[in-house]
Amino acid sequence: MNAGFGEESLMSVLACPGCHRRLAREGAVLRCVACEETFAREGGYWTLVTAKTRAAMLGEDAAGRASDDPWTQWRSAMSGLEAWRKRQRGRRAHTHSSGVERSDGSSDERTRALLERAAGERDGLLVDVGAKDGRMRALAPSRCFYLAVDPSPKGEGSVLRSVAEELPVADRSAVVVFSHAAFDYFVEPERALREASRVLVDGGSLALVVSVLDAPIARARSGRSRLERLWLALRALPSAGVRATAGLVGDALFSQRAHVHYYTRDALIALVGREFDLVEVSEVRQSASTILYVLARKRARGRLRVLER
Ligand SMILES: [Zn+2]
Repeated sequence: MNAGFGEESLMSVLACPGCHRRLAREGAVLRCVACEETFAREGGYWTLVTAKTRAAMLGEDAAGRASDDPWTQWRSAMSGLEAWRKRQRGRRAHTHSSGVERSDGSSDERTRALLERAAGERDGLLVDVGAKDGRMRALAPSRCFYLAVDPSPKGEGSVLRSVAEELPVADRSAVVVFSHAAFDYFVEPERALREASRVLVDGGSLALVVSVLDAPIARARSGRSRLERLWLALRALPSAGVRATAGLVGDALFSQRAHVHYYTRDALIALVGREFDLVEVSEVRQSASTILYVLARKRARGRLRVLER
């Protein structure tokens, strides 16, 4: 079992989520030594979110924003997820809230093996992004320091309130950035991937466990409004089949959109491949989706060449 971070080692890797410079303890708050933004504990968790992002999360800057504003969708998806979790709690005790089925523990073993390969021989910081209660700590290699960040943290341990788009972690300080069943909630996935790359050491790894959907189903679920989802569900019938379509129609009528993004396998791989070098992708087919286990390496940047004259 991974012990996590003490306060002192935590401070050594934390950075301002806005400008990535060092944070200094100042009474009850952390203050950025460069931009001077301060961050406090809220509800027992250090809250390392810039004022700008916090306003977007809370919808305080929503005036004049279009309904397809990504943070508006995020709020809607999060409340949809909470509603879904409540329904599931009574129904299927063995289904993980993320949609990754874990009745036999095999997905835990796959995740553990993925994290082992991601860390390789290295020890050091492993950042779990979108970690909820930090439950995946138990699957992290024991030689790594596990740090969990989540916009709605739960539980104890090294859990910080933070978002994937502005990680509160210093440049080149993590050996692994990991995310389990959370990537489709990252509002700005390209930005999240750039952040993952920034905080990784050279040769560091990205390890993702993401559920992906077949194209017609991903399309149908991505509709912005109920009506659009219903229309797309009906259009999916010829390719998705009666059973899947019935499920889509039911969700369109009775459920909120529960994810921020719905990815197909190809779209997800292309997205990751823009920022990282893909090492391996394996998949496990489930009844309604496919779980991808993705391992990728931080891409070596071209070095600045000094031209000889
Ligand atoms: Zn700063």
